[in-house]
Order: sequence, then structure tokens, then C-alpha cells
Amino acid sequence: MKPQVEIYDTTLRDGSQGEGINFSVADKLRIAERLDAFGMHYIEGGWPGSNPKDIEFFAQAKKKKFKNARLAAFGSTRKKSVPVEQDDQVRLLIEAETPVVTIFGKTSMLHVKEVLRCTPDENLAMIGDTVKFLKDHGKFVIYDAEHCFDGYKLDPEYAVATWQAAEKAGADFIVLCDTNGGCLPDEIAAITKAAVSKLNCRVGIHTHDDIGLGAANALAALDAGAIHVQGTINGYGERTGNCNLTSVIPCIALKLKKTCVPAKSLPKLKELSQFVDEIANSRHNPRQPWVGSAAFAHKGGMHVNAVQKLTSSYEHIDPALVGNARTVLVSDLSGRSNIVMKAQELGFKLTNDTPELKQILHRVKELENQGYEFEAAEASLALLIRAALDKTFVPRFNIETYHVSMRRDKAASICEATVKVCVGKTVHHEVAEGDGPVNALDKALRNALVKSFPELKKVVLTDYKVRILDSKSKAVAKEALQVVKGRGDFMLEPVMRDFNRAASEGTAAKTRVLIESTDGKREWGTVGVNENIIEASLQALVDSMEYALLKK
Ligand SMILES: [Zn+2]
Repeated sequence: MKPQVEIYDTTLRDGSQGEGINFSVADKLRIAERLDAFGMHYIEGGWPGSNPKDIEFFAQAKKKKFKNARLAAFGSTRKKSVPVEQDDQVRLLIEAETPVVTIFGKTSMLHVKEVLRCTPDENLAMIGDTVKFLKDHGKFVIYDAEHCFDGYKLDPEYAVATWQAAEKAGADFIVLCDTNGGCLPDEIAAITKAAVSKLNCRVGIHTHDDIGLGAANALAALDAGAIHVQGTINGYGERTGNCNLTSVIPCIALKLKKTCVPAKSLPKLKELSQFVDEIANSRHNPRQPWVGSAAFAHKGGMHVNAVQKLTSSYEHIDPALVGNARTVLVSDLSGRSNIVMKAQELGFKLTNDTPELKQILHRVKELENQGYEFEAAEASLALLIRAALDKTFVPRFNIETYHVSMRRDKAASICEATVKVCVGKTVHHEVAEGDGPVNALDKALRNALVKSFPELKKVVLTDYKVRILDSKSKAVAKEALQVVKGRGDFMLEPVMRDFNRAASEGTAAKTRVLIESTDGKREWGTVGVNENIIEASLQALVDSMEYALLKK
């Protein structure tokens, strides 16, 4: 059955123009396979006329069989005063051997006169010749009307003439492009309506997110009669990006209740979004609508309480519909419900009636007053819950003593740490060097622990964050930072100065250290708070190792 709205993915072409995005041919092939499996109707693979990498992509893609999607090669109308059959860029479009070819042409009189510098009639001939040539070669032709909305606002009659030139030459789709991304939804709707009424051919929409309305504008065009949406996964693209398909697809399916991608694909949306981020080596945005990790995260105690009773109270849909999940953030706003839901998420059997709940809640609030934060440190929270629930629980190891020192050796400064750890009756005494005090301490602790717990070999630190907590000290630290900035001193210097100054004033600053660790399969966060940065770091390190052992 034909879907009511077709999805045209241009992650591999328009998306790859985004800052920091650089796909290899192998990356592009992997993404294309996933987009096809997801059920996209078209995949725009690249612009063979613009770079050899895209020519290579199409040569490789030719050998693949796509189940759902039709592959499109992208290019432009022929050059002015060159016959279409002699235009190299158009020839490469044919040689890409894709079933679909998408070409863009000028809609705006301003661009014809100032950028192309040709007559209005020559532009119309360029559009018509190119579309016809591609049709004669058996292609399904999509015509992207560049600067369509801005051009229509400037000279509606000429804009319509350009669309009709493409239609007359046999284009299968006319796609209206808000190339600069600056239009408002009502403008998009009105001009799309005009295009639909003036054309017999099907109409699509291509928007950009320059004013944060990429998805809204695509929906406005659908409402006005368009039946095809172009966009990119995670909204990749030039400047602020393209219309985000991970927003627009669920809007079409779940809000407009129109068919687009297969219904069984929708719960794989988050997975697809993360996959593409991973290939692009880009950090997943937690605040991304629908698929971000915070999209269904609840923090306020009252909200959590309500969600526990009735999920729709603070959720616009069931997160599972797009493959996402509800998460509960533990914070100083937290009530009983947050702890219960978080504990269950971490695998503890805890209900509103568990007697230890009050004790856990009290302890969390107490620690939060001291500056602890458990939102990114759920492993530390798990240890705390565990200690409250299991009275017989004893830590797997204890740190008897430790010592950290620093020396300057020629040009480099070297830190050395000694740690004495007891595991039952066994004592491990280890020393290690590192390029910083925390690094040295981590190495020494690990050397000591792997003797009894070889599984800790796999555990590595992936992130380390320090924050000064006292607001007064913060002001001092900011001032100190300004002083050292000009001299390019080591980052920790303002932190250290802050300690010294705050200490001399008798108001010692507190430091919170957040550590993220992984064993290659899972990731977890731990927290430590102390007036001494080394001590705070050690707490977070110890929690990390404890948690790794607890998981076993
Ligand atoms: Zn674009």
C-alpha cells in the first residue's frame, strides 16, 4: 500500500554538509543499509558531480540490493550555454546508475540575475532541458526548487514559471525548498497551497532549521497538500541543520496519524538516531525531541509521583512507541517516588512500603546538601541503596592509607601515588606514576585491586569532571581564572588558588568530582565530594571499583 507521506532521507548528502560531519564511503554504505531497513522511501546518496568519494559510493551501492528505498543521485541543472548532453556534471548523474535523480534549479529571480547571471528564459531552458534529458534516460526525476519560498515572495509569476518548466519536461515531483531556512509556517503553507493548485505534478517539501522551525515548516507544507518530506537523521546539515526526520516522522505517524514509514519501524527510531550519531562520531543530544535520553526524564518529585499513577500526566506519548524509555532523575527535588522508580530501574526490589525507603531518602537529601549529585552518578546511588537494604553488606576492599606527591623532572611534572588496600586479611601495597595526581592514584589503586579482582582490568575511566561548589569560592575562582587565562596556565591552577584563598578566609571550598567508567559493555557514573580535590576523586574512584564488583 502506498504511504500517505513519502520520506526522502538526505543525511548522506545535505546532512554531510554539517559542521564536524565527515562520512567515509564505508560509513555511507552502512548508514544507507540502516535507512533502507528502517523503511525510508528514498535515500539520497550524494552528489557525484561534486566529489570523487560520492562517485565511489554509487559504484559500491550499485552492487547492493535495497528492500524499501530507492537510491537517488543529486546534482544541478545544466550549466548556462552548455548543451545538456555535453554537461559533465549531468553525465555523472546518469553514470551513477540510480533509479532516481534529484536536481536543483533556481526559482528566485534574484539568484538568476545576481548569481547565475543569465536571462530568466535561459534559466527556464536549463531546467526544462535537464529534466527532459534525465527522463529520456529513464530516470524518476525529482526537481528541487531552490530558494522556492524566498523566490516566490519576490516574484511569484516567475517562480511558478520555473516549476512549470520542470513539470512540462516530465518531472515526477516538484520539491519546494526553504533553502535559507528563514520562513514561517504560515508563509510555507500559503506558498505550498499555491504550488499545489498550479501544478498537476506531486509536491514535496525540503526545509532547514535556521530559525528552529524546520520540522514545523515541513508539517505546515503537508497540511497544505505536500506529500513528500525531505530531511536528515538528527537534523544534520549546514548551519543549524536540515528538517529533523527523527522529529518529523513520529509527528506524521503519531500526531497527524498518517502513514509514512512502516509502523513496525517506529519503535526503532531511537536506535537509528543513535546509530547515525555513532557513525558520525557525534555526541547524542540528550535534549533531542522524541529520541533524546532526556526526552522522557522526570525530575520534580510531584511530577514523578503523578507519572507513577498515570503516565500520560507528564508524557505526551508512551516513550516505547519511538523506542525511548522513561527515566527518573534523582535530585534534591526528589521525593519517595523518584527513589522507588530509580531503585527499580537499577534492579533493586523497593516499593513505597519498604521500611528502608525513609532512611535512603534521608541519606540522599543529606548528601545532596553536602554537594553530592546523583543524576549522573547512579552507581554511587546504587551503592547507597544497597548499603541500606542489605545490613550484612561489607565493602569488598578498604583503603588503609594513601599518599600522593609531585615532582618536576626536567621539563615535565610527574605525580606519584602509593596506595595500601586491604582485601579481607590480604594487604596490597602499590605505587604508580601518572601525569596528574588523580591519574597516578587511579593506577596505584587499580594495580592493588587487580591482584584480588582480575575482572577490574577491563574497567577504565572515560570522563572526569570537577566542579567548585561554594558560590563565594566560585566568584574567587572566576576572578583567579581571569588572571591565569592571559598566561595560559594549567586549568587546575584557579581551582587550587581558590582552595588556598578560601582556606585562608576560613571558608574552605568544596569540590565535586564526577567520574564515568566503563568495562566495555556498560557505563556508570560515580561521585565524590570533599574540600580536598584528591580526596573527592578517590571517593569517586572507590565507588566506581565497588560498583564494578557489585555488578558481578
Ligand atoms: Zn538543503
